[in-house]
Amino acid sequence: MTAAALTRDQARAAAERVMARCDELAAISETPEALTRVYLSPEHRRANALVGGWMRQAGMTVHQDGAGNICGRYEGATAGARALLLGSHLDTVRDAGRYDGPLGVLTAIEAVHHLHRQNARLPLAIEVVGFGDEEGVRFGITLLGSRALAGTWPEGWLDQKDGEGFRLADALHEFGLDPHRVADAARPVDDIAAYLELHIEQGPCLEQADRALGVVTAINGARRLNCTFTGQAGHAGTVPMGQRRDALAGAAEWMTEIEQVTGRAGPDLVATVGALQCRPGAVNVIPGQARLTLDIRGPEEEPLDALLDDLLARAGAIAERRRLTFDADEFYRIAATACDTGLQHHLAEAVMEVQGDAPHLPSGAGHDAIALSDHWPVAMLFVRCKGGISHHPAESVTTDDVALAIQAYTRAVTHLATNTALDLNHG
Ligand SMILES: [Zn+2]
Repeated sequence: MTAAALTRDQARAAAERVMARCDELAAISETPEALTRVYLSPEHRRANALVGGWMRQAGMTVHQDGAGNICGRYEGATAGARALLLGSHLDTVRDAGRYDGPLGVLTAIEAVHHLHRQNARLPLAIEVVGFGDEEGVRFGITLLGSRALAGTWPEGWLDQKDGEGFRLADALHEFGLDPHRVADAARPVDDIAAYLELHIEQGPCLEQADRALGVVTAINGARRLNCTFTGQAGHAGTVPMGQRRDALAGAAEWMTEIEQVTGRAGPDLVATVGALQCRPGAVNVIPGQARLTLDIRGPEEEPLDALLDDLLARAGAIAERRRLTFDADEFYRIAATACDTGLQHHLAEAVMEVQGDAPHLPSGAGHDAIALSDHWPVAMLFVRCKGGISHHPAESVTTDDVALAIQAYTRAVTHLATNTALDLNHG
């Protein structure tokens, strides 16, 4: 059977329910004054129980997997059908907002609820997952929940310790899970057709475009480097300007070039010098050494690498002209995650239907979809948040925007789960 689209009134009621549930989840916190909910904590357990109950009310069978993710399944027209997986995370940063993560889980439950109300069974099953850890607050490793589902937990993670020296293996045990059976959370690749995630934007672009919804093109890749300019320290009073080898002046020249060159390289590329130290660091000494960090991000690997090469070449040229040396050491790299073009197209159609147009934008922040993209095509729908603020108690979305989001999301989910012959190209 085919499922009817949500009416405006139904979407409004669903959005009010989602907003109330975000509030209810926000009350489950380590401390009453600031929302904090970390992996394998008593708050994680309570959040799973609450969300699992909502999944059941929406017609799903529910279980908690071997890594503590809460999982619901709404069966397809035939038992054991492949599933369209929807989800996001239920953990938070410290002193968090209430929509980053939960909004994606709760809107997914509403999409299923709508099908359940009509008793509509589609060719694909719909599964909803609330990941136990995305933010990585407790163990300093991100995407623990989604990497468990994707089956990509490295061996050594069980020995990772939290801030109090508590091993991840022991935390799993205390939570009631068998640390040796985390691998059971991994899903066979054939069980899942694709992964969709709805999330707040966490940036100001949709607000600036005066739009509630946008389709994500890619999750930005990133490179982080420690860089050093080395010159010669000297007396601030005796060394003439023409004879100086001032490391900090070289770093300063490079910093202004980073800003200008990145600004010209395209609207989706960003570069930041976030930390700077100079030595010896005294008012009357010419700096002999300047150490600075570089963080650059972008939605596509090639332009990102080209920008990095350009910036490093410029640093080298500045160093040579100023008779300094320059070194750079890359200590972190994550590849950009492209969203599936077919899935993007379906999300865009649904957004167009409810909003009139469908802006596309890259994601500057990381998401569970990164882990899922190892095996499955992924796509994301962004919802405008006030001032682009996130990871902060001031995080805010409107009920109107959420209603529009539920309408578009439910439409896209229904369409995708109905048309299993869709050409979903991974990559
Ligand atoms: Zn998030």
